[in-house]
Amino acid sequence: MTMCDCDNIEIGSYDNTIILGYYPCMREYRDSRMSKGFPPNGIAVDKCIANDVISLWQLGIRTFGSCCGHNKTQPYIDIHEEDFEQAVFYGWESIKDANFSVYPKLYYVKSINESG
Ligand SMILES: [Zn+2]
Repeated sequence: MTMCDCDNIEIGSYDNTIILGYYPCMREYRDSRMSKGFPPNGIAVDKCIANDVISLWQLGIRTFGSCCGHNKTQPYIDIHEEDFEQAVFYGWESIKDANFSVYPKLYYVKSINESG
């Protein structure tokens, strides 16, 4: 498992997150979240994987939830089903067989260029 910078951060915690503003490819998701009462300024993402999420958005690849794993579990980024092939093309690796899937139609990937 890739180690990240988290120290005693619980799964599901927002203690080590950063707010990322929405990239153009994320506007549909932003609108969906705003309709559910989330603030319009951005998405809270674990700091350890924020650069990975930004890299995907810069490629126009849409994401949903993500988690760095906090040194306790597998890091993942949920990628929109329609953008998954593109993510693989750019070197992201599927871990969709992971058994912690919350959204069965989505894919779980991790960067193959892990720095941690
Ligand atoms: Zn972390």
